[in-house]
Amino acid sequence: MLQPTQSLRILEHPFMANVQNLEFWQASANNLVAEGRAFINGQYVDAVDGGTFACVSPIDQRILCQVASCTEADADLAVAAARAAFESGVWSGLAPAARKTILLRFADLIDANADELALLETLDMGKPIGDSRTVDINGTVRALRWTAEAVDKIYDEIAPTGPGEVGMVTREAVGVVAAIVPWNFPMIMAAWKFSPALAMGNSFILKPSEKSPLTALRLAALAQQAGIPDGVFNVLPGYGHTAGKALALHMDVDTLVFTGSTAIAKQLMIYAGESNLKRVWTEAGGKSANVVFADAPDLDAAAIAAAAAICYNAGEVCTAGSRLLVEASIAVAFMAKVRAAVTGWQPGNPLDPSTNVGAIVDQPQLARVMRYIAQGSKQGARLTMGGQQVSPVGGGLFVQPTVFEDVTNGMVIAQEEIFGPVLAVIRFHDEAEALRIANDSIYGLAASVWTGNLGRAHRFARGLRAGSVWVNQYDGGDMTAPFGGYKQSGNGRDKSLHAFDKYSELKATWIKL
Ligand code: NAD
Repeated sequence: MLQPTQSLRILEHPFMANVQNLEFWQASANNLVAEGRAFINGQYVDAVDGGTFACVSPIDQRILCQVASCTEADADLAVAAARAAFESGVWSGLAPAARKTILLRFADLIDANADELALLETLDMGKPIGDSRTVDINGTVRALRWTAEAVDKIYDEIAPTGPGEVGMVTREAVGVVAAIVPWNFPMIMAAWKFSPALAMGNSFILKPSEKSPLTALRLAALAQQAGIPDGVFNVLPGYGHTAGKALALHMDVDTLVFTGSTAIAKQLMIYAGESNLKRVWTEAGGKSANVVFADAPDLDAAAIAAAAAICYNAGEVCTAGSRLLVEASIAVAFMAKVRAAVTGWQPGNPLDPSTNVGAIVDQPQLARVMRYIAQGSKQGARLTMGGQQVSPVGGGLFVQPTVFEDVTNGMVIAQEEIFGPVLAVIRFHDEAEALRIANDSIYGLAASVWTGNLGRAHRFARGLRAGSVWVNQYDGGDMTAPFGGYKQSGNGRDKSLHAFDKYSELKATWIKL
């Protein structure tokens, strides 16, 4: 097992002991009964038109359950329930400290049901159970607890007026928030949205990806058990072009928050313009540069991190370090280290706690990854590792971690987000060239620089056009800092107190004395 990068330090916990073993998870999987109905106004319900779709596990193509395929009629019901709950004050009218208590109970219930939620996540979208049980559960619980703890410690403002009046600047909940989220970290992406939205007093409708709806549906029951009133937390499973579009076009959704691809983020802004000008906040794609200078203080650590940055979660990570920029003078020796590190990442049965590369989420995504691999070779990049589909589990969707060297930044594999374990390695000769290449992307989600030169570290970090920048590590972060993108990687920020900006309106109230 490789050393994790800094941000995956959670993996350093001795979790193997409490993550059981393959037999345990296989037996649990065989006994699992997953809920596939929508959760609207405190009840699990079928779609109005009775439509369903099969939820298929990428591990072995097994059908896990039928899921309600919600459409506009279901969106109408969910929005009406959310609006009624909001107007009633049953949640929006509680003191922040009261909401905090309930949200902390919700977090405790997620912890108490961690095995079941982790198993649902792994079966549904294919990630290794060791990751689901630690990173995804802990990330979800941490988001909820941190935000709940914060909400009764935030004060409003008094404007610096003259003596004749008082100017109050207050934050108010926006009302009905709809969230559309992706499948790569289904629970965490949802929690980054629902934690601040609920803490502020909004009503919430979660539209999980059609590729990974199961944990969202289970969370709904836990939210209710924690004491979140009916109508405040709703889950609307379905396809993007039906359930998602209906929410995005809805005239009574006040704010739409999104994590997913840049193409859909753009579409959602159009829907908002075509409907009620709802606020739209997007966290979109990335093509992050991981820049290694010859003067990096620890090239072994940099190589291990470079491998983890593209292999973790099978590369299905918005901040994946998919472009590795290496100073030419060390490229040969450094790439030998990177390739050695990548060999430690091998696809295996996701239900085995020792597996570190799981299944690709579904057949279209696997086909997309394989298309990019073919394109890399065709455009002249040198394939030095992987590139093949493999089958550690019969019928499953797996691909080897893949490394392309001699890549130029104009190649398709250096420009487009692949969302798979495919690394594009590009050489550079000096700092200016490195920065130019790093910023030569429509995306600006994250970037990393490895150097022992303090001046260069600051200069380069400042020059990078990205929402998260790491120095001598890859993928650091916590709830304490904002997360989001520059350029076509989106707008707004998840996490930290800045996230509340998305879930509140600012009101200026002027009182004449
Ligand atoms: P996607 O854009 O295909 O889908 C995301 C969500 O949008 C899904 O729930 C989908 O059903 C919905 N959707 C699709 N079409 C829609 C429409 N017309 N109207 C309304 N909703 C619609 O993305 P994905 O494949 O699920 O996820 C991968 C993408 O997510 C990658 O681009 C990745 O970089 C991005 N991502 C970004 C971050 C971040 O924080 N910036 C985090 C994780 C993932």
